[in-house]
Parts: sequence; C-alpha cells; structure tokens
Amino acid sequence: MAVEDHRGSLIVVTNREPYIDEKAAQGIRRLQSAGGVVSALDPLLQRSGGAWVAWGSGSADRETAPGGVRMVPPIDPKYPLHRVFLSPEEVLGYYNRYSNQGLWPLSHMLIERTQFSREAFHLYRRVNQKFARRVASLAPPNGSVFSHDYHLALFPRMLRELRPDVAIAHFWHIPWPPFTLFRLCPQHQEITRGLLGADILGFQTPQDVDNFLTAVERGLKIPVDRTQGVIQVGTHRVVVRDYPISVDITAIEHMVNTPRIQRWTAGIRKRARNHHVSLAVSVDRADYTKGLLQRLQAIDKFFAQYPEHRRRITFLQVVVPTRTEVRAYRRLYDQFVDASARINDKYGDRGWTPMVHIRRSIDRPRLMGLFRAADYALVSSLFDGMNLVAKEFVSSQIDNQGVLLLSEMTGAAQELEEAFHFNPLDPDDVAEQLHRAAIISPEDRARRIKSMREHIHDHTIYDWITRIIRDLNDVAHTYATP
Ligand code: UDP
Repeated sequence: MAVEDHRGSLIVVTNREPYIDEKAAQGIRRLQSAGGVVSALDPLLQRSGGAWVAWGSGSADRETAPGGVRMVPPIDPKYPLHRVFLSPEEVLGYYNRYSNQGLWPLSHMLIERTQFSREAFHLYRRVNQKFARRVASLAPPNGSVFSHDYHLALFPRMLRELRPDVAIAHFWHIPWPPFTLFRLCPQHQEITRGLLGADILGFQTPQDVDNFLTAVERGLKIPVDRTQGVIQVGTHRVVVRDYPISVDITAIEHMVNTPRIQRWTAGIRKRARNHHVSLAVSVDRADYTKGLLQRLQAIDKFFAQYPEHRRRITFLQVVVPTRTEVRAYRRLYDQFVDASARINDKYGDRGWTPMVHIRRSIDRPRLMGLFRAADYALVSSLFDGMNLVAKEFVSSQIDNQGVLLLSEMTGAAQELEEAFHFNPLDPDDVAEQLHRAAIISPEDRARRIKSMREHIHDHTIYDWITRIIRDLNDVAHTYATP
C-alpha cells in the first residue's frame, strides 16, 4: 500500500484500543483487537510512526502504560498507544448508556430500544472532551487526525476549538438515520455540530451521506451543497463523502490456503458430507440489529414451505456474546436458544439437526476456513452500516462455490449485487431466496461469486484508507501553506 500521511504524523483516535492488556491468572494477557480498522491502520502507523489514542479498557492497561502511554505492538514496538482512562461512572454514561443505548439503536432505527438522558450525555461530553484534550496535547503543528465512530461525535469540534491548525477526518461506521428519526435524539444539534468540526466526514453509503446532509439542513439550518457534498460553516469547509469500508481479500485468500486452515476446512466439509447436508453459516455478535430471531422465523418458514430441503441443509450460527452488561443483549441470546430448539424439535430427526449454534468468537483464520467450507452464508441484519462478514465470506470463496444471501438493509448489499437479496422482516421472502439459492445451477453460482470477488479485489480496505487519507492530506496541505 502506497499511502502515507505526508508528514508521518497521523493520529488515529478510536473508542476501542488496538492492543489491550488484561490481568490473567499468570501475569498479563496481551490481546490484539481483530477488527478491520485495526488490521488496516495498525500497519500504517507501524510504518509511518504516528500515534493511536483510545480508551484504556483492559484490566491491566494502567500497569502496562506508565504515564498513560504504551509502546505497541508489545513485541517490537513501533508507535505509542495513548490510553484515555475512564472512571466507572464515565464508562456507564459515555459507553453503556449514551453510545450503546442511545446513539446505537437510534442510528439503526430501533426507536423502542433507544434511551437518552441528560446525565448520560453529560458524561458522553466529558469523555469526548478528555479525548480532545489528549489529542490536542499530542498533535504536531498542522498534524492530521483520523477519528472514528458514534462514540466520538463531539470530538471533532472540540479538537478544532483547541487546535484549529490540525486537519481532521472522522468516519461514522454505522448507519445515519433519516432526520425524522434522528431528531428524536434530544442532543441532535450538538451531535451534528460536533461532527462538523471535521474537515472530511466519511459514511458507509450515499444514503447515509444524504441523511446526514438533511440533518445539517433541517436540524441546524445550515445550507449544504449536495452535488459537491460540501458544507461551509463560517470559514470552515467540511467535505462529506461515502467511503464504503472493506476487507483485505488477499490476506483472506492466503489465510484459507494455509495447510492448517485447509485441514480445518476439510474437517468441516467431511462432517457435513457424513450427514449428507449442505452447510449454511451465519456469524454475528448477539446484537438485536442482526435480526437473529427474525432469521429463525424465516428458517422455520423455509422448512415448512419447501419440505424437499429438510435433511439437506443445516444452519450453523456462530453467535458472539457482546455488551453482556446490557440486559436486552443477554435476553436476546436466551430467546435465540429457545427458538432454535423449537425448530430442532419441529423438524429435526435422527441424523439431522436443522439448527446448530456455537456461542463464542472464532479466531479469524478459522472463521475464514469455516466460510470456505460453507455452501451458503445467510446475513439477515435488520439494519447494518456495512456488514464485513458478507465481504469476508465472498473473499474466502477461492473455489468460486459459495452462495451469499444478504439482507438488503446492509451497506454491503449496495455493492454485492450478485448476492440473493431479501427483506429481513419478510420471512416468506427469505424462505423463497433460500430456496432459489439451494437450487441454483453451478454455472450461475460460480458467475455470481466470481463477480463479487472481483468487486472486492477492486475495493479493498486499503483502497478505503487510501481515499480517506488522501483527502485528509489535501486538507492538511492547505492548512500548512498559509
Ligand atoms: N468476527 C470474528 N470472530 C467471530 C465472529 C466475528 O473475528 O467469531 C469478526 C468478523 O470476521 C468481522 C467482525 O467480527 O470482521 C464483525 O464485523 P461486522 O461488520 O460483520 O459486524 P459488527 O460486529 O461490526 O456489527
């Protein structure tokens, strides 16, 4: 990848840190975050020597970061990770409540799950301010900052006030809802204004950009230039664009080709063959936006309406525990287990279990091997900024075999046109698409998956970063030349 920040001084700012230290029975366990952003930006910082600022959430994070700074990667350190430490009260208000019970469900259009309070917002603001002060004290003159997501919506404006010489890009990873919903956020004006502190504001899809521009026009009464995606706020110019996030398809192709993962894939295939079934996988955090319960209704419909597929397909669900401190999330898992058991009781018979689930996270190489072994992937999010699982499944299909069934409510559906699309709230539609996928001809199957793989090869995670950093560097350049 050729892109570098032009002075090698990029500061990345995220809620979750790339390297976490946890207390364990024998000393300290070092963990690395596995998300796409980390795996793309960490190598960039390792080469260019910038810095990363994030919430120090690990139980041993203070110990390993004297003065709040830890050099990373722990083995062969290359750049400083600046940890922002939060009190339990701040974690509750900023993270659990305002971010995850307020902005997250509202952005995913789930009004009934959304709760706001002034007290939580107060803590959200305080934490955003902490991040802004920390970054302001670190950024070199005319430096560049790349901040992320809904946890840090107020950060760009706060940083701009402290450091007007710094160029800021902010990427919003989740959907941006229509204004009719977004206005339900009691602090919608502060949130929108906070983001307008950035120079470059990135969203996943053109629809998100459009919705954001409407929030600016209607919520703040600031005119926007829709054709250019430009907003002029006094003397400050904000460029708003869609930058759909992606995956490192070449790395995934290598991963599934290693002997260890090939053996793992072959083992899964063999087990499925022994049971004379095809395998349909779904992989999600146990989050209500992923449509887990609606998916089970659709699977029930599928076996009821198309009995010819009974004993032929097993649905394997990897369900990763998430935000377990929130009650709604714990309940969702219990409901999922009950509904799966009902399907198994209703349709299962000796030698065939329609629904199998694994409740834990699987490491990336094995997950990619599982995708390769699967005949189908079923992604049925009710609403999803992008959904990387869909892109990873496609990337893993080096034999051009698998079939992707994809909710039309994901950002990924706008790019992966050759998937079987469906409305996740319409079980009849999902069942029908499952049936179509199950009887697809080998030629059609190969054509579809090949075309989607080509698309991902042309739009990788590195292209995503390259576009954003280039746009950011253009702005930084104008700041540096008065
Ligand atoms: N993932 C993983 N192990 C698991 C389950 C998921 O590494 O057991 C990864 C998956 O490969 C993907 C990410 O978690 O990169 C989930 O991203 P996605 O955009 O699909 O959903 P999100 O969880 O961010 O809403």
